[in-house]
Amino acid sequence: MLNRPLLLVAALLFILTLVWFQQRQSVTEVARTALIMGTLVEIKGVGSEQQKLETAISDAFAVMREEEERFSPSISSSQLAVLNRATKAIAVDDQTLNLLQRGLEISRQSQRAFSLGLGGIKKLWNFSATQPQASSLTEIEQVLPDPTLDPFSIEGHQVKRRPGVQLDLGGIAKGYAVDQALQVLRKAGVRSASVNAGGDIGLLGGHGKRSWKIGIQHPRKPGELLATIELRDRSIVTSGDYERFFVVDGVRYHHIFDPQTGLPARGCQSVSVIAANTAEADALATAAFVLGPEKGLQLLEQWPGVDGLIVAADGSSQTTSGIKDLIQWR
Ligand code: AMP
Ligand code: MG
Repeated sequence: MLNRPLLLVAALLFILTLVWFQQRQSVTEVARTALIMGTLVEIKGVGSEQQKLETAISDAFAVMREEEERFSPSISSSQLAVLNRATKAIAVDDQTLNLLQRGLEISRQSQRAFSLGLGGIKKLWNFSATQPQASSLTEIEQVLPDPTLDPFSIEGHQVKRRPGVQLDLGGIAKGYAVDQALQVLRKAGVRSASVNAGGDIGLLGGHGKRSWKIGIQHPRKPGELLATIELRDRSIVTSGDYERFFVVDGVRYHHIFDPQTGLPARGCQSVSVIAANTAEADALATAAFVLGPEKGLQLLEQWPGVDGLIVAADGSSQTTSGIKDLIQWR
């Protein structure tokens, strides 16, 4: 029979082995950045195997670069550029079809505040110019598509652009690319990750055992937060008039256009949308921004599984009922 002291030593050894094993399994966080779609993208992964995280993150960046090659207006072989040059219906790949269908759906459900047909308007305003200038109403009229019509039609895999309309996927493609990155991470067995493409954020699980704490930028105080919110397994995207803008004679001109007028939408300073996927959050943030605070809030309130925070043009903030108690104001 074993005596008592020997039993105690054995138990102690067992506990020490457990602690040692736990430490070997300790959680590490890997964070990497890359420039994709003209934006600094940061991917963080949390787990116990550093090498597995590194590989998954570099595969996730690779898939985002593929989406860039598919949807960039400036890459002449991109599906978007090919569509914009085509004079008849052309076959597009599955991803492009999926993105166009989802964009069209959000356009129809948002009283067409969201439009995939603003390529001409975007080119005219040219926010990437060194000295962008306000466009005249005559110039706008020449490139503004009929806001009551779909900018393209779909039949099977064939997409036909409406004559004279240039497509632009800038309001949804970044969110879509974030979702593709999350999918790669998920498939690689990563259970805790965040993908942040310049404010389009997709989350996998929590931040280790806790939730991810996401800061919402103050639209008029650069570098300061308006609020924070704790989330897991969700996406959050903010559209703001402070992202790309210039000011002439005290008027702020920014990159989110009202498809009715071709002018920068005037109702909001920023809209943050929380949804189950990043493409939806991305497009709905742009749509709600264009609709303005009242109609925008209605859209987000009635959209299943979606919540949001809107800062109106006068600086006042409102949230959907679902996140009233979850927002921590700064
Ligand atoms: P976001 O920053 O997600 O709000 O997207 C802004 C980008 O979406 C712009 O740079 C344009 O490429 C595109 N965009 C601007 N206005 C609209 C609109 N009303 N509907 C859809 N996309 C838009
Ligand atoms: Mg958007």
